[in-house]
Amino acid sequence: MKYPKIRELREAVISLVTPAYTTRFPKKEHTPFEGFRGKPVVDDQNCVGCETCANVCPSLAITFEDDREKGVRIIKRDYGKCLFCGQCEEHCITGKGVVLSDQIYDLSSFDRKTNVEYQEKELLICKNCGAIITTREHIMFMHKKLGPKAYSNIMNLKMLNEKLRLASREETKVELSEGELRRRDMFNVLCPNCLRQVQMKVFS
Ligand code: SF4
Ligand code: SF4
Repeated sequence: MKYPKIRELREAVISLVTPAYTTRFPKKEHTPFEGFRGKPVVDDQNCVGCETCANVCPSLAITFEDDREKGVRIIKRDYGKCLFCGQCEEHCITGKGVVLSDQIYDLSSFDRKTNVEYQEKELLICKNCGAIITTREHIMFMHKKLGPKAYSNIMNLKMLNEKLRLASREETKVELSEGELRRRDMFNVLCPNCLRQVQMKVFS
């Protein structure tokens, strides 16, 4: 039989009389230290559904699915997979869409589904080929960043018009040409590929 060494006995006695280093959660609320990286909290008003955070998330905790039929992008955030690395906060294009909080212990649960959050954002779909361009809020955010320069793009002009309500949606509605794209289709919501085709016709 091996007897414990003096050093080990000493450690055992010390640990009996010193308070625990670990937190007493859930008996006692845990107060994190300054700069603690806890659960990312989304601000839907400032999130434009751009996909950047999903692209930088190392653990694939953030995923996106585009539902063309419903015209929405579904953003899924599974905090059961989150590493609390802060990449989503650091790379968020609006700077305010997702911010790491100091909550972490509140994520403990017997049901992993309770740690999954969903968001929905309206998609912008090319009227000609049906390609997904991005979300409507993402384009609007870029308009805001660009300022007056946003008006240089005809599609942007149409969308800004809708936003400012200078004319009703009905008044600005342009039916897509049947068959080949035509010059007037520039006033429709088109993906970069289709817009390039129209421009080639206009300037050739
Ligand atoms: S903190 Fe890191 S792991 Fe967690 S959702 Fe953000 S990027 Fe992904
Ligand atoms: S990067 Fe920011 S704005 Fe873009 S989807 Fe993520 S949280 Fe939303």
